[in-house]
Amino acid sequence: MTPNFGIMVHGGAGTSKIRTKRTQISKALEDSVSAGYDILLAGRDSVDSVESAVASMEGSGVFNAGFGSCLTLEKRIEMDASIMDGRDLRAGSVGAVEHIQNPVKLARKVMERTDHVMFVSGGALKLAELCDIAPFFLEPTKEKLEVYTTLHKKLKTAWSRNYRLSSSSSFTLNQRHFGTVGAVAIDKHANVAAAVSTGGRWLKMHGRVGDSAVIGAGIYADNSSGAACATGNGEFIMKLCLSKYACDLMKQQQYSPSQAARKAIFLVTRRFGPNNGGMITVNAKGTFGLSMNTRSMPVAIKSSKSHGKMHVRL
Ligand code: ASP
Repeated sequence: MTPNFGIMVHGGAGTSKIRTKRTQISKALEDSVSAGYDILLAGRDSVDSVESAVASMEGSGVFNAGFGSCLTLEKRIEMDASIMDGRDLRAGSVGAVEHIQNPVKLARKVMERTDHVMFVSGGALKLAELCDIAPFFLEPTKEKLEVYTTLHKKLKTAWSRNYRLSSSSSFTLNQRHFGTVGAVAIDKHANVAAAVSTGGRWLKMHGRVGDSAVIGAGIYADNSSGAACATGNGEFIMKLCLSKYACDLMKQQQYSPSQAARKAIFLVTRRFGPNNGGMITVNAKGTFGLSMNTRSMPVAIKSSKSHGKMHVRL
């Protein structure tokens, strides 16, 4: 019997309900989950599926990833991304990369073309060049610059000592909708995979790398347990190795994907308070789960269990 196959994607945890751009967000999630599902339906593997789903969201401009990435304190765009294959724990990630159209694709090159796991900044760009990925100059849009100006003013007022050392309290101040993108998938051969991509946190300091580049924090995938992808305050997610924690809970079917995601997010709440993050999960049987302690986390799912019918929830 072919096991259940399918994919779940998210568009980032947010501290407020999504009131604007609902149609665009919905459409971008639909496009992403369909791109990932079609790959699985054709019999290709879950790594191809999550890469393609995340690349689609990076290209949409709607989320805080790829084209839509937020700005650092110095008005730069510095992105993090990672990908992991549950078959053999192969993983690749990039941190603080600039001038790359699809950071998730570069993360895959790290996984497949090198025997390293993480590349950052200039080294990642050098690898891109070696892999024939052309540089791509992302310019901050007018809309992004306006958000920057508003947040920058707030940050300067809120932390008058030295706003250049951006304070952690700026997190809740700045971040209404985090908008990181991620995906977990399982293919027809019961192989799981996860991928994530982000511009990180608004007004982060130059060189800051978040959980999305850290295997075990932002994502994890292991056929013996399942796959998980986290979003929210990256500093908290890293301190808790959150995605690995959720996968460990799913080992030997001890906890269902929903229970594992709930327990992981409960841990975030217990240690760091509410309104901080969310998670999506899938286990080796093709059951999906999700949880968040924020007011929103747009998700879409398409699986063979529901005969390829798409579900989107904003
Ligand atoms: N986890 C991301 C980061 O801290 C942000 C997010 O998920 O929205 O870089």
